[in-house]
Amino acid sequence: MKIAIMGAMREEITPILEEVGSYSTFEHAGNIFYECSYGEHDLVIAYSKIGKVFSAITASVMCERFGAEVLLFSGVAGGISKELKIGDLIMASALCQHDVDIVAFGHPYGFIPEGVIMTETNDELRALAAEVAVDMGIDLYEGIIATGDQFVASAERKAWIETTFHADALEMEGASVACVCHNFGIPFFVLRAISDSADGEAGIDFDTFLQSSAKVSATFILEMVKRLGD
Ligand code: SAH
Repeated sequence: MKIAIMGAMREEITPILEEVGSYSTFEHAGNIFYECSYGEHDLVIAYSKIGKVFSAITASVMCERFGAEVLLFSGVAGGISKELKIGDLIMASALCQHDVDIVAFGHPYGFIPEGVIMTETNDELRALAAEVAVDMGIDLYEGIIATGDQFVASAERKAWIETTFHADALEMEGASVACVCHNFGIPFFVLRAISDSADGEAGIDFDTFLQSSAKVSATFILEMVKRLGD
């Protein structure tokens, strides 16, 4: 199976590249794509750079040019739910864009005509993740992830996103990747380990926990890859 694994930042895919060992590289559309075989699968791995636009480019290329059959996103996020502590894992049940605002025309927040507010992730990939979590003895949280082109470091903004979208975590790429995969008809999965709590301390926490949380997410994703297609 051709599996795409993407992160937003270099730190999010470094643990994956270290694990797969050897790979070839291919430069295209402002990204480096790392290709290798892993077990019985062919992988294409990349980090997109931060935000919805760059992540949409990378996900599109992985679907269209690399023929990805499944896309797995691995990275870090700010926690909204009080149950989520730094280092905890959340898989997205659905994703939305918290910064989409054409409410002046009577539309709800997050809605674009001919689109949807919430894009749901693939049921089978979530079920596989739940199995992996049980076997690894990990508490895997499932919930809504809100995406926007903002690093949220404010209790007020975080509360607004929670109230408006019932979101459990927030980040800057998941919903755009979801939109791309949905439109290409590619099953996708978004996993994030919490790096901060999107509050006044978020910047400091993010810098402190980026690497360790990115590794938690990457390790889990690779375990999923090993079992895909079983
Ligand atoms: N320190 C980086 C910027 C990080 S932006 C620099 O200077 O270049 C935060 C990244 O982690 C994004 O890719 C986003 O998806 C995720 N993230 C983690 N915590 C977040 C938060 N509180 N708000 C928004 N995105 C967050």
